[in-house]
Amino acid sequence: MKNKIEIFLFIDALGWELVQAEHFLEKELPERKKMRMQFGYSCSAIPTILSGKTPSEHGHLSLFRYEPKHSPFKFFKLLHYIMLPRSLWNRGRVRNVLSRMVKKLYGYTGYFQLYRVPFDRIGMMDYCEKRDLFAADGIAPFENLYDVLKKSGLSFHISNWRKSEGENLAEGLRLVREEKCDFLFLYTAALDSLEHDCVGKPEILREKLAFYETKIRELLAEGKLHARDFRLTVISDHGMTPLSGTVDLRKSLEQTGLKFGRDYAACYDSTMLRVHFLKPESEAIIKDAVLPFANCGHWLTEQEERSFDIWREDRLFGDAFFLLNPGIQIIPSDMGGTPLAGMHGFDPADKDSNAAMLSNVSIPEDVNAVADYFRLMKSRIDELSGDMK
Ligand SMILES: [Zn+2]
Repeated sequence: MKNKIEIFLFIDALGWELVQAEHFLEKELPERKKMRMQFGYSCSAIPTILSGKTPSEHGHLSLFRYEPKHSPFKFFKLLHYIMLPRSLWNRGRVRNVLSRMVKKLYGYTGYFQLYRVPFDRIGMMDYCEKRDLFAADGIAPFENLYDVLKKSGLSFHISNWRKSEGENLAEGLRLVREEKCDFLFLYTAALDSLEHDCVGKPEILREKLAFYETKIRELLAEGKLHARDFRLTVISDHGMTPLSGTVDLRKSLEQTGLKFGRDYAACYDSTMLRVHFLKPESEAIIKDAVLPFANCGHWLTEQEERSFDIWREDRLFGDAFFLLNPGIQIIPSDMGGTPLAGMHGFDPADKDSNAAMLSNVSIPEDVNAVADYFRLMKSRIDELSGDMK
C-alpha cells in the first residue's frame, strides 16, 4: 500500500451551477468551491491550468489570431480560388480532412481544427496550439505540469487527451490499483460537447454525470485500498450558458466597405469580436457599424481586459474586443455557422460561467479561480516529493 496518491481529475465544462443543481458527488467529495472561469475558451483555460499563467502571459486566447507575417496557412489562399462552391469548403467533413492534413504537414502535436475560418482570410491568421500543451516544454518558456512532475522525481501519469475519456478513466483506475503512481492528472472532455448541444436537457446531462459518478466512486474505492491518504480533486474550466440570441457582426463589418487585411482585421470568436484597426480611421467606422448591437454586448475597457487577464501591450489578440452579453452568440463566427444550444466564453462574473472544484480534502482559501489550479497542484507535488525524502 502506498502512503499517498494524489489525483486531479479534469472534467471539461463541469460548471458550478450544474454541480449544485445535480448534487454531483456531494457525499463523496464534500469539499466544494465555486471557481472563477479563466476568461476565454478551453484553448485559453487549458494552458492556464497546466502552467498557472494567464492569456496575457502565455499568449493563448483564441485558437486563431490575426498575424499575417507568421501565418502558416498562406497556401490556403489557393483553395479559395479553386472553383468549388463555398458550401463544400465549409462542410464539416471536408474541413476535418483538411485539418488532419495540415496537422500532419506541419507536424503540429497540439489540438488542431480549422473550424470555419474563411479560406480567403486564413492566410492572414496564425494558430496558437501548435504544440502538445501536456507534453514536455508544451508551454515553453513557462514550465507546465509535465515539466514540474518530471523534475519532482515522482512517479506520475498525465492522461493522453487524444484518447477517449473512458480509456483515460480506466487507465487511471488501473494505475491506482497497481500502485504505479504518486500523482495523476486525468483528462475528460466529452461533457463539454454534450452541453454545447444539450444544455437545456437535464435528463441527457444526468446520464453523463451518472457515468462520471460511477467512475469516480470506483476510483475512490480503489484508492482506499491502495493508499493510506488518497486524495481526489475534480476540477473544471467553465460552465455553459444557454443560447439567448445571435448576432451577425461579420455582415455589419463587411457592409462598411472597409477592406479586410488593409483597413482592418477581425476574428469572430463564438462570443467575442476582436478587431485590429490597421488604419486609424477604421476604428470610428467599425464602432459605428457595431452600434446597432449596443444592447447585445459592449467594447471591453482596458480595466476589464486587465481584470480578465487578457491585456497585452503588443495587442496580440486585437486592438478592441466586443464581448457579447451572456447567451448571445456570433453567427456565423470563425468557429461555426449555426448557433449551439449552449456556449461559454462570456463574462466570468456571469453565474453560468463559473467552474468548480470538488475534493475529498480541504481546498485552500487562496484557491478561487482556474488560474489558481496550477499553484495548488504544484504545492501538492512539492508535498509529495517532500514526503518521499
Ligand atoms: Zn466548449
